[in-house]
Amino acid sequence: MPFVRAFCMPVPPGIILVFTNPVNARLSPPIPGQIRSLYFISQLIVYGMVPSDQLPKNYDFAVVEERWRNTWRDEDYYFDRNSDRPQFVIDTPPPYPTGNFHIGNALNWCYIDFFARYKRMKGYNVMFPQGWDCHGLPTEVKVEELNHITKNDVSREEFRRMCRELTIKNIEQMRMTLRKMAFSIDWSNEYITMMPAYYTKTQLSFLRMLQSGYIYQSEHPVNYCTRCETAIAFAEVAYEDRETQLNYFDFDGLEIATTRPELLAACVAVAVHPHDERYHALKGRTKKVPLFGHNVPVVQDEAVDPAFGSGAVMICTFGDKQDVHWWKQHNLALRKAIDRQGRMTPIAGKYAGRNTTECRIAILAEMKASGILKRQEKLEQRVGTCWRCKTPIEILSERQWFVRIKPKEILDAAHQIKWFPEHMLLRMENWVEQMEWDWCISRQRVFATPIPVWFCKKCGEMVVPDEKDLPVDPTLVQPKHPCPKCGGNEFSAEEDVLDTWMDSSISVLNVTGWDGNGTPKIFPAQIRPQGHDIIRTWAFYTILRAVALTGQKPWDEILVNGMVLGEDGFKMSKSRGNIIVPEEILSKYGADALRQWGAMGAATGSDIMFNWNDVVSASRFQTKMWNIAKFVLIQLEKEGLDKDASVTALADRWLLVRLSDTIRTVNDALERYQFDMALKAIREFAWDVLADNYIELAKGRLYAHDGSRKSACLVLHTAYDALCRMLAPFTPYFAEECFSYLDCGSVHKQPWVAFTYDDDAARKEGDLLVQVVAEVRKYKHDQGLALNAPLGKVTVYAPHTVNDEGDTGRTTNADVHWRTDTAKLDRVVSDIEFNRAVVGPAFRKQAQAFMNAIRALSPEKLATPPKTITLDGAVVEIPENAFAPKYSYMEEGAKVDVLTVGDVIVTIAK
Ligand SMILES: [Zn+2]
Ligand SMILES: [Zn+2]
Repeated sequence: MPFVRAFCMPVPPGIILVFTNPVNARLSPPIPGQIRSLYFISQLIVYGMVPSDQLPKNYDFAVVEERWRNTWRDEDYYFDRNSDRPQFVIDTPPPYPTGNFHIGNALNWCYIDFFARYKRMKGYNVMFPQGWDCHGLPTEVKVEELNHITKNDVSREEFRRMCRELTIKNIEQMRMTLRKMAFSIDWSNEYITMMPAYYTKTQLSFLRMLQSGYIYQSEHPVNYCTRCETAIAFAEVAYEDRETQLNYFDFDGLEIATTRPELLAACVAVAVHPHDERYHALKGRTKKVPLFGHNVPVVQDEAVDPAFGSGAVMICTFGDKQDVHWWKQHNLALRKAIDRQGRMTPIAGKYAGRNTTECRIAILAEMKASGILKRQEKLEQRVGTCWRCKTPIEILSERQWFVRIKPKEILDAAHQIKWFPEHMLLRMENWVEQMEWDWCISRQRVFATPIPVWFCKKCGEMVVPDEKDLPVDPTLVQPKHPCPKCGGNEFSAEEDVLDTWMDSSISVLNVTGWDGNGTPKIFPAQIRPQGHDIIRTWAFYTILRAVALTGQKPWDEILVNGMVLGEDGFKMSKSRGNIIVPEEILSKYGADALRQWGAMGAATGSDIMFNWNDVVSASRFQTKMWNIAKFVLIQLEKEGLDKDASVTALADRWLLVRLSDTIRTVNDALERYQFDMALKAIREFAWDVLADNYIELAKGRLYAHDGSRKSACLVLHTAYDALCRMLAPFTPYFAEECFSYLDCGSVHKQPWVAFTYDDDAARKEGDLLVQVVAEVRKYKHDQGLALNAPLGKVTVYAPHTVNDEGDTGRTTNADVHWRTDTAKLDRVVSDIEFNRAVVGPAFRKQAQAFMNAIRALSPEKLATPPKTITLDGAVVEIPENAFAPKYSYMEEGAKVDVLTVGDVIVTIAK
């Protein structure tokens, strides 16, 4: 059998290895109490292999993980911009620096690290950058809380400084968790969106899109949170079901139902369906708004539902999206009744200054008093709320900045990207297809990228900075040139800032090195990993921006992960008390166990319910694997390894063919990002195939000293080496520890396993071998024999020749013969089992006589018993189920026990 692979030889004790490459040499793990790093010779480190009797008895994750963390070097994971290896650039999500790297992040990053490490081993030049998406409201709110201030109590600059300080502190904490979890991050490509290096690019991208007409400013209705005092995008509106009241009231002779009476002051029209005969006469007429007295037109619109209420509705600016639609459609007036703080404006007359709730109560009271409120009904309603603070959003008409959405462009690019899992593309399509408004990108906050724009005080012209002067904060500096239109020298700064998604949606442009001069050489990236909760924001905005700025899709593939639910199956939340913190898992079971949980929890893309049992079983697997490691290493050490040994024993060939099958499965699964399937295959191979079956089979040979162990050692080494490599992406600490005893440097610098082995006969015959041994062992157990007790002669009648090289015999401690002829067995009745519950009552005093009579029957009669029998001269019936003959088998004149394995007969002569 040809047997070719790259060998990494284990070193017999006593031999000193000298690494001439100091990078490799530094990877030698200093194990406390063991002589590993012997001494330095100038820049070189010299060490020998640890004698296997010094292998720690138990695997202590805390010691091992910390030791390797201190040994590994960041440089090993740097992306090489000058390399000619194929690139694999990852557009890592930049998390919001809250200070806590949560379990959902952990799952996301596990996926990223699995494929980053795998691709590196496959020879790719991998970039696994780490970003931090700093700007935005949560940090502002936290700073206000911590310092007991509001943003208006200090200067903008001071407030920003406080936000930056808190952010840096939080990033530091989160970096520590990332390192503990052994994520192979390229720290040379770290980016922090609040730093000038980054937001210069955000501003540059703004100016470019302003130039190309993608960005414009206009007065337009936008979603607005009056608590956060800022506009928000549609993607940031969360919907909640609430119960409200539908109020029917008399509107100048028409019955109208409304849930928002406080908007009466903002009423600009009454709408009816054009075919609603009740209202034909109202066409072209006006109506007087109750309580406020202004006149509004009656308009006809197909969208009015004649069956709802009275069939007449009032249009206000703005109660909901439909109002906005009608307002545009019918070119209606604009009446702003609510201001940015959520208070009523002067057009609300005596209600001006009150908040909307107070105003609603007062108006309903006034309606009641004047007798126009007819009735009230309860109504279930979906209310749009602010994603951050849950305040119901208002639709306010404001001068804002917008990014033009071109659905076709975005869909075209989305279709050029490969989606994992595929059905996630549908979510993007649905989102794009329902887009009605452009993306509002201006925010009325402080901690964000400034919009680099001024306005000429004299003529109102918009003035932008030169690109080479970026970044700029227009509130701190003035334009360098006079107004190009009127020559004026006085400017007012744009005080609005940019939506945080404007920063994070160019993450891929940033990591690929976009600087405004054409498309970067390494653009597009190969993959975007992210959660399904941000498809309509981060994924959507990134595709939009990549197309707008480069004309291309941002990535080749997108991998979407699910959410992590609490142990109770619900979304993790403080109020439910079901939050699991990664740090807790890390300290109890270690990073490798947590990473295994991430891989095994569910199919990629599905939500995962957190379960401590999964973490515990992951940690058990490590214990089992460590026992395998100790066994293998001790065997390999005994006489060294003969890499030229020929693999002939069936069990050895079987193990190699099963290894080859496993490698293929793992490889295919990893190519499709199916981490659960990959790790499952690895675990099954290690636990079932290698430990429970193969090692049991080959043990006898390994303990012998007749040269037959060479083939087994070679096979053990091959399987062990392959397992270390396949585990490297999943359990980097554990794999490194196991591999280190082979003294071949870091497993993370090895190529991916390339081993293949075709031997169909070995697969078939080996499976039989394993099953026969399992049956014989089960037989011993059933007979109350010790597993190593001698058993006599075992004959296996296999369909074809099997040369097990004595493995079955040694494993079962029996004289085993494999034969291809047919078993010649004689069946004899060895005993008769009587059913005393039947015999006793039926024969009473004659029971013994009955049993004697049955025993006297010939074997032929016993096989098909007669209906009656003669007892003391009388013919009596034989009751049903009175007895059953017990058979035994004779083979060549000796009594044998018979087992069956499928069609195969196994006889045992004790
Ligand atoms: Zn809010
Ligand atoms: Zn001007």
